[in-house]
Amino acid sequence: MTTSAPPTLASHGLVPAVKFLRTIDLVKSFGSKEVLKGVDLSVVEGGTTAIVGPSGSGKTTLLRLIAGFENPDSGTIELNSRMVAGDAWIPAHKREIGYVAQDGALFPHLSVAQNIAFGLDRAWNPAGRRANARRVAELLDMVSLEASMGDRRPHEISGGQQQRVALARALARKPKLMLLDEPFSALDAGLRVATRKAVADVLHAAEITTILVTHDQSEALSFADQVAVMRGGTLAQTGTPFSVYTRPVDPDTAEFLGDAVMLEAQLQGSLAMCSLGGIPVRHATLQGRVRLMLRPEQIRITSDGPIRGVVVDTVFFGSETTVRIRLSPVPGLAGGGEIITIRHWNASMARPGMELNLRVIGEGVAFPV
Ligand code: ADP
Ligand code: MG
Repeated sequence: MTTSAPPTLASHGLVPAVKFLRTIDLVKSFGSKEVLKGVDLSVVEGGTTAIVGPSGSGKTTLLRLIAGFENPDSGTIELNSRMVAGDAWIPAHKREIGYVAQDGALFPHLSVAQNIAFGLDRAWNPAGRRANARRVAELLDMVSLEASMGDRRPHEISGGQQQRVALARALARKPKLMLLDEPFSALDAGLRVATRKAVADVLHAAEITTILVTHDQSEALSFADQVAVMRGGTLAQTGTPFSVYTRPVDPDTAEFLGDAVMLEAQLQGSLAMCSLGGIPVRHATLQGRVRLMLRPEQIRITSDGPIRGVVVDTVFFGSETTVRIRLSPVPGLAGGGEIITIRHWNASMARPGMELNLRVIGEGVAFPV
């Protein structure tokens, strides 16, 4: 008979999970350019965090500070209950961190097996050779690569396979924290999704705490259990993928994380009056004139919908069609009658000039004007 571990308070989510990594007020400049302007990030043990932000926002710099390749100007980094930067200094090779860079950075003159073994013992000594070979085979298997791949050179395998080799090399030392810096961005769309899923599965199975840096919002939302949105050297928002997507803190974050419909609205109590009718708003702290944000998928074309709009034009994308719709102005509401863009699966259901009925599902988010 097998017995499983008794349930604990933590397993019921009743006590906060252990913070595995904590950066406090990290600041880093290069010359006169302040790249990180006070970054506070916490990552729980075994968790998967995605840091997402536009190019140049400081994502790689933050990863390099965590890895120990750079020293912060001020602020502290705690890793696995140890201070590693700030009031103390633990060098990169003693932080038990794996790092996979954007291009994989494999050694072109070494075979796949030798690249992976490089992550094992520093000295590839004869006594350890058999054990190393076994471990390399195990690592190849872990990242779903055939053992025969071991003899190939990096240029003889595909981009997706190269990224898996880079991951295997980083896994070789059994890191406690894995840092992935845009590891999938060089891959084409189909391969990117498959490789991302394979990598996520490997890291999850090995229970390795992971931070993924990406500028791709759908990658961040699908990969991680925590998303941190970086902008201009600070984290604009940190939360679950669902909360940052549905309740972004500001319009820039809203638009960075996905398509957004922005409307003029008049907020009274928890109801925002706009060209789409009265939309409920949760935690309505603002009142009066606001910008209301909805996600396009909240707006449905349906024959019994209470709101009317006229199709401006459509664009066919195969699995979906985007439909631009001009809404009717609302008497007494300044700036109403906007053109919104929504999506529909049926390409033949909307033609320019057609009048459609719409219904809004769920709540909106109010931002100051
Ligand atoms: P991201 O990864 O989000 O694209 P980076 O952290 O690479 O952003 O870079 C943020 C900014 O810092 C950029 O403007 C970049 O040019 C600058 N930067 C990064 N590393 C250095 C460096 N070693 N020396 C000078 N400037 C740097
Ligand atoms: Mg970068």
